[in-house]
Amino acid sequence: MQTIEKYNFAGKKAFVRVDFNVPLDEKFNITDDTRIRAALPTLKKIIADGGSPIIGSHLGRPKGVTDTYSLKHILGHISGLLGVEVQFANDCAGEEAALKSAALQPGEVLLLENLRFYAEEEGKPRGLAENATDEEKYRAKKDIKASQKAFTQKLASYADCYVNDAFGTAHRAHASTALIAGYFGEEDKMFGYLMEKEVLAVEKILTDINRPFTAIMGGSKVSSKIDIIQNLLDKVDNLIITGGMTYTFTKALGGKIGHSICEDDKLDLAIELIQKAKEKGVNLVLAVDAKIADSFSNDAKTGFCSVNEIPDNWEGLDIGPETEKLYAEVIKKSKTILWNGPTGVFEFENFTHGSRSVGEAVVEATKNGAFSLVGGGDSVACVNKFGLADGVSYVSTGGGALLEAIEGKTLPGVAAIRG
Ligand code: AMP
Repeated sequence: MQTIEKYNFAGKKAFVRVDFNVPLDEKFNITDDTRIRAALPTLKKIIADGGSPIIGSHLGRPKGVTDTYSLKHILGHISGLLGVEVQFANDCAGEEAALKSAALQPGEVLLLENLRFYAEEEGKPRGLAENATDEEKYRAKKDIKASQKAFTQKLASYADCYVNDAFGTAHRAHASTALIAGYFGEEDKMFGYLMEKEVLAVEKILTDINRPFTAIMGGSKVSSKIDIIQNLLDKVDNLIITGGMTYTFTKALGGKIGHSICEDDKLDLAIELIQKAKEKGVNLVLAVDAKIADSFSNDAKTGFCSVNEIPDNWEGLDIGPETEKLYAEVIKKSKTILWNGPTGVFEFENFTHGSRSVGEAVVEATKNGAFSLVGGGDSVACVNKFGLADGVSYVSTGGGALLEAIEGKTLPGVAAIRG
């Protein structure tokens, strides 16, 4: 497999798929540029070699050309970070993009307009009437697949090589994240540095495991985490299920949960998971106490109680001190740690304590030699909020992509390069 480190980009044009889907405020200022910074090593290597990056990305979920989602808003910021005046093509698949790519000189950089302005990027028909017949749906799908091929070919025609540095979209089989790789030979397609690091970190968690291996799964709903929990039951020694999911388990076990978040249709599933963990010898760790509130608000009246005895009209919004101790003991003895999801409503300052204490335990375990991977949206926000990101082994930039990889699924963006 080709690697970015070995590849000499001198005189070459590289189509670089990045994930510059950054948050913008109402004046189009970037409020968090982590994703842009994460791709800089790849872009800088290409420029330093004397190559020309042609940057492709999506921004938001436009349903067509929409000024709000134009990448022109972030052009200046990218130029500033790269130290190069980046050129812009107003239409990623128009004549301007082809002409500007062809005219690029070594060291020059071109940013293409939002790839998702075209439905062909995702390969999903747009604008179908709600009452469309099955035949209309079938035809629309067939049409978009045909025009997706032409779109992909066009993007590929701009460049001599393809670099995928967009781990955040690696779980999507889109034109620029996967299909485009088919237009380049084995020697001319590769992961960028960021993608390489992400893939390695996931592989380490899934295959190169030092034990004990502990997964901390938080968040609100069992239903959204069920596949990953099932897959982890075959791999981990300890499984901490926490956050809002706690109360579905507590209720299934006969506890009183007051108004706490609960999926009543998942009570049987919770019991099944408890039994499966037992059969597989996995130590399933659930909360024993809760920080409760008399309303879903940062300013609510609060108290602590056993997780089984939450009074009517109160709800658990974080773990309590006994649970913090219990989790910390397990985490600190671990040698491999995966953390996905907070222990409570960490967006409210008064319910951050549990998530912070988990983060601190993960950092301590890491200091003592554990490999720790933090990923999936909210836990990344947690480690950043608590200033703990530097104390863990790896913070993944991929939300959905990371979760799908850990579920054991093959990511199309990864497979397209690896074969
Ligand atoms: P998820 O998107 O499934 O990873 O869940 C993350 C969300 O779960 C965060 O926004 C948390 O506020 C929320 N959450 C965590 N614990 C609780 C809880 N006890 N009650 C309600 N929401 C929670």
